[in-house]
Amino acid sequence: MLRRLALAQTRRAHRAARPLSASASSAEEHAPFDFPPPAKDGFVPFDASDALNVGGRLTEDEQLIRETARSYCQEQLLPRIVAANRHEAFDRAIFREMGALGLLGATIDGYGCAGASSNAYGLIANEVEKVDSAYRSALSVQSSLVMHPIHKFGAEETKARLLPQLAAGELVGCFGLTEPDHGSDPDGMKSKAEFDASTGEYALNRANLQPDCNIRVLNGSKHWITNAPIADVLVVWAKLDGDVRGFVLERSKLAPGMLETPKIEGKFSLRASETGSIFLADARVGPDAILPKAKGLGAPFSCLNSARFGIAWGALQGSTRERNSQLQRLISRPVSTRFG
Ligand SMILES: Cc1cc2nc3c(=O)[nH]c(=O)nc-3n(C[C@H](O)[C@H](O)[C@H](O)COP(=O)(O)OP(=O)(O)OC[C@H]3O[C@@H](n4cnc5c(N)ncnc54)[C@H](O)[C@@H]3O)c2cc1C
Repeated sequence: MLRRLALAQTRRAHRAARPLSASASSAEEHAPFDFPPPAKDGFVPFDASDALNVGGRLTEDEQLIRETARSYCQEQLLPRIVAANRHEAFDRAIFREMGALGLLGATIDGYGCAGASSNAYGLIANEVEKVDSAYRSALSVQSSLVMHPIHKFGAEETKARLLPQLAAGELVGCFGLTEPDHGSDPDGMKSKAEFDASTGEYALNRANLQPDCNIRVLNGSKHWITNAPIADVLVVWAKLDGDVRGFVLERSKLAPGMLETPKIEGKFSLRASETGSIFLADARVGPDAILPKAKGLGAPFSCLNSARFGIAWGALQGSTRERNSQLQRLISRPVSTRFG
């Protein structure tokens, strides 16, 4: 049964149950964290499923969050993932369910988000990846590459309007940095934004309208943008007067023909995640679309750092899952056939 336990509510309840003690010692008051340091666990019995004893280092909140994510993934995601993988189908209802549990943008405080720790975010990624990498990827993009930049670099009005809907999984977001000719070197991006002083709007031009761009690559071999084909909110990076700037595009606000997001069909992995291209043709957006506090490559890189943190937790789980299944396979064979 789906546990209808929203992390935000859980955290509020925990905070209420643990008021700061007025008689706390000075050392406690100045402790950098509100949880005890890891126990000296040199003699904890070895557990092959948690070789690093991660479980022994978690706070009460983190354990609860892990349990919530685990129950959901095992009971709700797992039964649906084989068909989703086979048919390359992303189910928006799953995002809404994750949102209802507080799993999206979990580290953000306020705006309908759980305000959980980075470890908790890692644990969520870990539990999702235990079942499927595609949904972990979609979750990472929504949390780290869409909600994070809006929260960190966005105007208050944009945050208040979009973050609660993204946290609830009602809106799906994507992050467009990679270009057909520029993946590892995003500074070479061709996407350009121009400011139209007469209207106060920004105009975003698609790269393949530039005469020096290789149109053949744009036609499908690269440009991988997770969630793009279904995204309602697109965080797109483009150069404005030579500086990399972030823009928050809302699909519903763009006129027909300004935006195309064709899907890349037939991936060999992450099949349940929608991956595609973003083509912008003189897309006109209002002055509120720019992320005012993001200037330069440091901004998208901070998003990628956040995403990589979750991806690392997910990858750890992916390798553990693979190790366990291989071990199980080996153990199930007769001893004489286990080697060679
Ligand atoms: C499933 C999927 C989802 C993705 N989702 C997104 C997304 O949501 N948003 C987004 O913006 N991007 C996304 N990407 C794009 C991804 O981030 C890029 O693939 C990545 O940045 C690498 O760029 P590239 O594919 O152009 O490879 P290239 O830059 O062409 O690199 C190819 C290889 O050369 C190596 N290489 C490149 N330059 C050097 C160098 N100077 N020295 C040594 N080695 C080098 C690279 O390490 C790599 O192994 C996604 C990709 C995939 C596959």
